[in-house]
Amino acid sequence: MSTATQEYTRVAIVTGASRGIGKGIALRLAADGLDVVVADLADQKDPLDAVAEEIRGLGRKALTVSCDVSKEDEVQAMVVAAVSELGRLDVMVANAGVSLAGSVMDAEIEAWEKCWAVNIKGVLFCYKHAARQMVKQGTGGRIIGAISSHVSARPTFNHPLPGASSVCGQRGYANVGAYCISKAAVRSLTQTTALELREHNITVNAYGPGAIDTAMVANPLDEVHGAGYFVKQLLKIPEGVRTGQPSDVANVVSFLVSPQSHFVTGQTLCVDDGIHFT
Ligand code: NAD
Repeated sequence: MSTATQEYTRVAIVTGASRGIGKGIALRLAADGLDVVVADLADQKDPLDAVAEEIRGLGRKALTVSCDVSKEDEVQAMVVAAVSELGRLDVMVANAGVSLAGSVMDAEIEAWEKCWAVNIKGVLFCYKHAARQMVKQGTGGRIIGAISSHVSARPTFNHPLPGASSVCGQRGYANVGAYCISKAAVRSLTQTTALELREHNITVNAYGPGAIDTAMVANPLDEVHGAGYFVKQLLKIPEGVRTGQPSDVANVVSFLVSPQSHFVTGQTLCVDDGIHFT
């Protein structure tokens, strides 16, 4: 992935790109000079179209794709669309994810499997089909997944989350088992895939955000106390830890996507203002 000999514009796919961290990453990669496929669930078409317009406003090509990442045929079709419309695929950012709270004793397997379908199978499908395309092209690539530094604070949760804090992909936490398992799986999958793809000059890494100001963690109490307040209280995140913006994560992804990161693979980079040390 040398810039010296590169005679093409690199193409990235970002899943879950209609809002939040995915949107921030998509816009950052466009600003970095990549053409970008933005993908999300079909019901996110309008915000996804708006993100694509912003990318075009930055002078890059953009393609919107409706894709439920938990369905392998849709992920495969997304990669095919990227290649047929934008010519190639150099970067996959498997960002889409969902959260789930609940104890092991109260585990409802259907709900846990639904979380894993997006967070584990969805990432696996993205890694798999991106890797196949990149290996076929023979010009290396970048594959990137999302881990986590906490869980969602949406008030729709049925269960409280005492004791849950820090990077859920790095260790288990009470009452967020389904989510912790899924993010730990992504961390492990990232390491395995990195080893398998090293010979193809494809790096595979993950980012682990802390409290980032997105819809996933938004709570009415934040309107009084500031963005990220509720999730940080709920998860007992130490006082003084700041709430980040999607751009803070996008900065790190920008580096992982860049040619300069070629010697970094199999890693999870926490972007969390120091909640968790790896
Ligand atoms: P978000 O809820 O704001 O956005 C997630 C996006 O993923 C949405 O646009 C949603 O429509 C999409 N999505 C959900 N299920 C999908 C599916 N099956 N197929 C395709 N798209 C789907 O979340 P966010 O805060 O932007 O989080 C992005 C990623 O970062 C997630 O993997 C999340 O677990 C992780 N994360 C977020 C935070 C945070 O503080 N916000 C912290 C740690 C990790």
